[in-house]
Amino acid sequence: MGSPSAAYEPRRAADSVLYQVVRDHYETFAAQAASWRDGEGLPAFIEEEFRGFLRCGWLAGGFARFRCGGCGLDRLVPFSCKGRAICPSCVGRRMAERAAHLVNQVFPAVPVRQWVLTLPHRLRYLLAWDHALCRAVVGVFMRAVLGFLRQRARAQGIGNGRSGAVAIVQRFGAALNLNVHTHALVVDGVFAEAAAGNLVFHPAVPPADDEMEALLVTIARRIERLLARRGLSGTQAELGAADPWVEDAPVLAGFAAASVEGVRRWGRERALKYAGVVAGQSRSLFR
Ligand SMILES: [Zn+2]
Ligand SMILES: [Zn+2]
Repeated sequence: MGSPSAAYEPRRAADSVLYQVVRDHYETFAAQAASWRDGEGLPAFIEEEFRGFLRCGWLAGGFARFRCGGCGLDRLVPFSCKGRAICPSCVGRRMAERAAHLVNQVFPAVPVRQWVLTLPHRLRYLLAWDHALCRAVVGVFMRAVLGFLRQRARAQGIGNGRSGAVAIVQRFGAALNLNVHTHALVVDGVFAEAAAGNLVFHPAVPPADDEMEALLVTIARRIERLLARRGLSGTQAELGAADPWVEDAPVLAGFAAASVEGVRRWGRERALKYAGVVAGQSRSLFR
């Protein structure tokens, strides 16, 4: 391992391919989008992501001056855009900070399983616009998974077990396409109070294919009900329009293939095609 550099070297924002592509083509793209939307242009929050990215890391976009009182060393540090979507520098920093926080402060030293919920196309667009609905869908997903773990623990004689999870909404797929989906890190088992009053962790057995299918059916039904309550069920006919597996398959390739197969079989039979719930490997976040 090399020793950390003592000198601060600002990154060269304009050197990246992404920067050059956005710089050269953004105005054309925005004009084209406006022509598709009767001159309305891109939504403000998307516009701001791109404009912020083009300013990010440039002294001309504003900077802070740091000065060492001891030796008088001066350093100008350009502001960053703090974007959440396309700026690799800001998104990367956010990801690293959050990962460190989760490992150091949040998760106990027990196995954690990644669960992924992908959604039908039409629903992705609804969720991209409607943050409250998006949170409600994530809530449905999380309650179902946590309930699943609790119920299985109960079947093994562990009453009143509690698990825990951190869910993260991703707005983009691997090809930067709009694909609102959820990744959740779920403690893979339950904590329950032992006779002595202390909390004991009981690891879960890996979910079987039929259990995954049943869980997916539960989640899909609850989301359907949620949409109906909000007067959005009229869109259900469109929800199953396309087969999302073609674009999702590469993203999901790393996850449990057997579960994916089970979900896929089920998915074809439903009018409302949920792409799936996928459970990844259970592993410790700690080395
Ligand atoms: Zn100094
Ligand atoms: Zn940035």
